[in-house]
Amino acid sequence: MKNNIIIRRCDLADISNMSITSCDIRIEDGIITEIGSNLVPKGEEILNAKGMLCIPAFTDAHTHLVQSLQKGCLDDLCITDWLIKMLSTQHRLTEEEWYYGVLIGLLQGLRFGVTTFNEMTYFSYIDAVVQAYKDSDLRVTFGLGATDIAENQSTLTTSVEDALQQAEIIYHKYHNTNHGLLRTSVAPQGLPACTKELMQGLKSFAKQKGLVFHTHLAEGKKETEWVKHQTGYGEGEALYRYGILDAKTMLAHSIWLEDYELDLIAESGATVVHCPSTNMKISDGIPPIYKMLERKVNVAFGCDGEASSSNRDMIREARCGAYLQKVVSGKAQVMPVSTCYQMMTANSARALGYDDLGKTRVGYRADILLLDMHDISLLNKDCRLSNIIYAGTGLQVDTVLCNGKVLLKNKCFTCFDAEKIMAKGEQIVTGIYKRL
Ligand SMILES: [Zn+2]
Repeated sequence: MKNNIIIRRCDLADISNMSITSCDIRIEDGIITEIGSNLVPKGEEILNAKGMLCIPAFTDAHTHLVQSLQKGCLDDLCITDWLIKMLSTQHRLTEEEWYYGVLIGLLQGLRFGVTTFNEMTYFSYIDAVVQAYKDSDLRVTFGLGATDIAENQSTLTTSVEDALQQAEIIYHKYHNTNHGLLRTSVAPQGLPACTKELMQGLKSFAKQKGLVFHTHLAEGKKETEWVKHQTGYGEGEALYRYGILDAKTMLAHSIWLEDYELDLIAESGATVVHCPSTNMKISDGIPPIYKMLERKVNVAFGCDGEASSSNRDMIREARCGAYLQKVVSGKAQVMPVSTCYQMMTANSARALGYDDLGKTRVGYRADILLLDMHDISLLNKDCRLSNIIYAGTGLQVDTVLCNGKVLLKNKCFTCFDAEKIMAKGEQIVTGIYKRL
């Protein structure tokens, strides 16, 4: 029987109204088929979850997984120096190192309850990268971080024709493969590293195939000013005028935007991905997320690459994001816990085009977390949902199901030997400084 499980007596949270009910969950062939009390087994595996809090698994809506190898190497640098060093190290990685870098990034995310990743990667070792996605059995939407304008000496540029050809190659080879867990996207790096022609060419391809368009928007202040100087528009308005913004567009960072550009984004239905750890650590600035939420923009959370954020824990990311918006808006009620959960689950699922992901309901995919709440730091059962965000960490995640398959149990990977992977990772990162 394939991935047929009954989760027994979990405390199921309904994020939409922040309520918790004790119940069983039946999963058949990766889908939630029944939620109720004392479900009668039909030969399923029983997962005892008494006392555990059950919430939907998280989606990391903007990341660069290979950067798991670069955590700690590039701390406390300004964005220009950081970018040059990050890229030059990455370009010196071998194919095997790419495989392990991506796999380690995926497993770190899994340890913290992420089952879906929206990743921007590169073409050079794409087969090894996809092998890591496949081996993890996690859900990944991925695109190639194309750029046709060199921002510095470490940038590898491509022509518009090559970028389109590469997007087409990965689409035909990998879109909707590995039991539907893998999808391809288009992922130009963003202005000012891309020409209008590259952005529009990739958008047109994405529209034709129904793919997500994933890019960085207005992350650097200097870069945004340069774009304005060159085009007469802010980065948000430029994308609007180029015809890029719609409900299939995902915009990471989105910091240096005028209010009227927020209106354009809201009107278009595009998603903004908030990556607060990166924004704070490399001093990008603070995106006006609270103003976006007022305008009903769909906003999700992303951990970004670890070379900048040093973080794959979505709970920590959500806490940073919520605190930052409370400070910048001067309003404590901005971005409450319920909004944080939506931004980690349903909002990002919607952005990636999944209408059956991000909620624990009958008919939805069984991407589920069981959280261990037996911890002295999390006292007060009545405030569990709040305390996880403001007082907990991703290490509370005990069990993770992706598509009904148990990938983490008792806080251990079910399909990987963590010690072996860690030893391999240490071997790779030893001496990585020398490549800077
Ligand atoms: Zn990024």
